[in-house]
Amino acid sequence: MVRDLHHYIGGARVDGTSGRFGDVYDPCRGEVQARVPLASADEVREAIASAEKGQPEWAAMNPQRRGRILLKFVDLVNENMDELARLLASEHGKTFADAKGDLQRGLEVVEFSAGAAPHLLKGEFSDSVATGVDVHSLRKPLGVVAGISPFNFPAMIPLWQAGPALAAGNAFVCKPSERDPSVPLRLAELLTEAGLPDGVFNVVNGDKEAVDTLLEDPRVKAIGFVGSTPIAQYIYETAAKNGKRAQCFGGAKNHMVILPDADLDMAADALIGAGYGSAGERCMAISVAVPVGEETADALVGKLRERIAGLRVGASLDKDVDFGPVVAASAKERIEGYIAAGAEEGAKLVVDGRGHAVEGYDGGFWVGPTLFDRVTKDMSVYRDEIFGPVLSVVRAADYDEALRLCSEHEFGNGVAIFTRDGDAARDFASRVEVGMVGVNVPIPVPIAYYTFGGWKASGFGDLNQHGPDAFRFFTKTKTVTSRWPSGVRQGASFVMPAGS
Ligand code: NAD
Repeated sequence: MVRDLHHYIGGARVDGTSGRFGDVYDPCRGEVQARVPLASADEVREAIASAEKGQPEWAAMNPQRRGRILLKFVDLVNENMDELARLLASEHGKTFADAKGDLQRGLEVVEFSAGAAPHLLKGEFSDSVATGVDVHSLRKPLGVVAGISPFNFPAMIPLWQAGPALAAGNAFVCKPSERDPSVPLRLAELLTEAGLPDGVFNVVNGDKEAVDTLLEDPRVKAIGFVGSTPIAQYIYETAAKNGKRAQCFGGAKNHMVILPDADLDMAADALIGAGYGSAGERCMAISVAVPVGEETADALVGKLRERIAGLRVGASLDKDVDFGPVVAASAKERIEGYIAAGAEEGAKLVVDGRGHAVEGYDGGFWVGPTLFDRVTKDMSVYRDEIFGPVLSVVRAADYDEALRLCSEHEFGNGVAIFTRDGDAARDFASRVEVGMVGVNVPIPVPIAYYTFGGWKASGFGDLNQHGPDAFRFFTKTKTVTSRWPSGVRQGASFVMPAGS
């Protein structure tokens, strides 16, 4: 039975009225399991109006009380963790354990935001900047803000966006990916159950029409976007044109440099997890391994090949599998197209994941682990984000060449170096032109109280996700200069006060 999903507006489920729907698949079977309504501009405006109505009451509540509601929400998510993780896995295709991680990393930002808001919303105060004159600043919420999120982290990214936005006193309109919208819809219900006033968190499902309405409506003051680079750039430009602030995070091509002195078993294990976990559908997945020197490369490729032979690809809810299917038939086709192109362009196809089959799941969107060796800079498998379980080995002659490769790539999201040499690691972390660096850590996603964001084509805007940056992004500063009548009176002045 194909379920019909809904929107969540004003604290309640609302059926779609546009007459347009998108298909939500079970990627393990390749079958449609639900239809998601694609909102019309009017439906999006209804969600914005509901947010606008709910926001003043929420903003008037003190930040500790807002925080308590958010922490109650965290408790409710934890109580419902298994149900949510199953739902997430069933639409995305990642494993049950990995789906829990998706939720958990989102919750950590909500916890941080709940606790940190009173501190991060504090202003500054200067006593006696002139005789009898004081200055202080306030951080005020923006009002209604929106988040547009990708399919690959259907819980974590909406929570990264909404956690700080809500804690700062904004109302939020969430436009999740149309591929896996059920978890954001459940999270909205749990927020209401936790005590969030109606209208403060809304979910509108939709596609470009919904996104463009959020971009154009003057009541929406800020847009957080995470997704592919062309759309990130489009959102950033359009938001700016419409007078909104925007933080837009795009695609990635994350490299891992392996120096000759690295613990090669540790590096190989890290590459297998970071390259193939979640079928490579992570913006922090490692898709390029850069061993330095032929000897390191030969040994590494041997170890990768051995480990790949033992990988288990299968149904998301089977607890023995390492990774599940990719999200859609079109994704499978795109990934297999890149595998064919890599082989044609002259890369050595060490392990070919095309044609992978899983017993009992004939129609699933399966792609097995794929390994290329001797990939070069001009090949499409190197240049483009494939977003699948495809790992490319690019051999570098020396450290400088490896550093240059990472720095010169169009994307600059994450990068890692594996070595025992502290000097080399320090030099790398300092000089590499990439936003997030791991030293013997393959997926260096910063914890909630630091910020997350890539450089170059991986990020548009100046403030990162979560951590203190998110509070700056979701608030505006007001600066108050005050003098009281009992202070010194000098009569009218016609020149600029010069601070003395
Ligand atoms: P996507 O760009 O296709 O979609 C992201 C969102 O944009 C969705 O909500 C979608 O409905 C909307 N959208 C799609 N096309 C649009 C259009 N033409 N106009 C307006 N809105 C549109 O991305 P995806 O396939 O869902 O996610 C995968 C991508 O996200 C990868 O490139 C991955 O690297 C990236 N990603 C980046 C980060 C990061 O933090 N940098 C994190 C996760 C994912």
